[in-house]
Amino acid sequence: MAYYGNFNPMVEKSGKNQHFIPEPYESVFLLSADFELAWAWRMLYKGEKGSVFMDQKATQARKNIPKILQLCERYSIPITWATVGHLFLEQCDGHDDIPRSDYYQNEYWSYDEGDWFDMDPRTNWKNALNWYAPDLIQQIRQSKVEHELGCHTFSHIDCREKYCPPETFRAELTASANAAREYQTEFRTFVHPAHTIGHLDILAEFGYSNFRSNYKNTLGFPKRCKNGLWELKNSYEIKNLNDRDPDFHIRRFIDIVKRSMKNRSVAVVWFHPSLESFIVDDVLPAFFQYLDNERDKIWICNHQQYIEWLNATEKDAI
Ligand SMILES: [Zn+2]
Ligand SMILES: [Zn+2]
Repeated sequence: MAYYGNFNPMVEKSGKNQHFIPEPYESVFLLSADFELAWAWRMLYKGEKGSVFMDQKATQARKNIPKILQLCERYSIPITWATVGHLFLEQCDGHDDIPRSDYYQNEYWSYDEGDWFDMDPRTNWKNALNWYAPDLIQQIRQSKVEHELGCHTFSHIDCREKYCPPETFRAELTASANAAREYQTEFRTFVHPAHTIGHLDILAEFGYSNFRSNYKNTLGFPKRCKNGLWELKNSYEIKNLNDRDPDFHIRRFIDIVKRSMKNRSVAVVWFHPSLESFIVDDVLPAFFQYLDNERDKIWICNHQQYIEWLNATEKDAI
């Protein structure tokens, strides 16, 4: 397996961007999870193959999440959980209030027949653990660590303007906000499914403060949009790089954090909770321990905590 060395992620020069890292830290480390169970994978394959794949992904995520939460507690690592809104529900009877997009096919979805919500089981969560997750959301909320619950749309749609009309996007945000209100949660962080960036003005209007983009892996700095939203550029995804050697992954992840300290930049790290067990069991503990040991040099916080600091700093500068 080729080692990515110093080329991935690319580093942005710190230069005049020094003010994005609070004193006395050398780096900011943000970790987020795209929490979706079966919702993300439903358009990937048709028929039986699709059902088996979705079930595997959702089952794996359900197995991993409690273990990840335990690790977060042991090493005090907060996560921003970018959550599909439907997972907050305890039950449902369909979603007629969300207008459907026209049929389309693209590199992520093949939505060419039926209804967007065809796979929604319309039942109680206990009967359909791949499509609802109030139990896991409670575990996240009850953790001693300051996790953040963010939004990943209500039903994992493509958010780009050419596929998603504004009324669909608004309805997805409204349904997500209503579902999260039951948990006294107001979303501030948004992650577009498959990084299909779109409708940023509507996000600002709904009170969001930041979103994560993924144009190329970057160790860089946040960028403020005209509408006030902050863009956080992805640095890397925690996943198996086809090399099951845990030490390889531990070395690589630690090396990237060291590079971000050297460059005085923000590390925006993300993962799918359905990742392979060996990453959770054999890679994350050592990686989290490294972060915990270095916390006097690295500010480890959730997205919204960092954005609040950014906004306060900017106000002071005016
Ligand atoms: Zn439903
Ligand atoms: Zn997703």
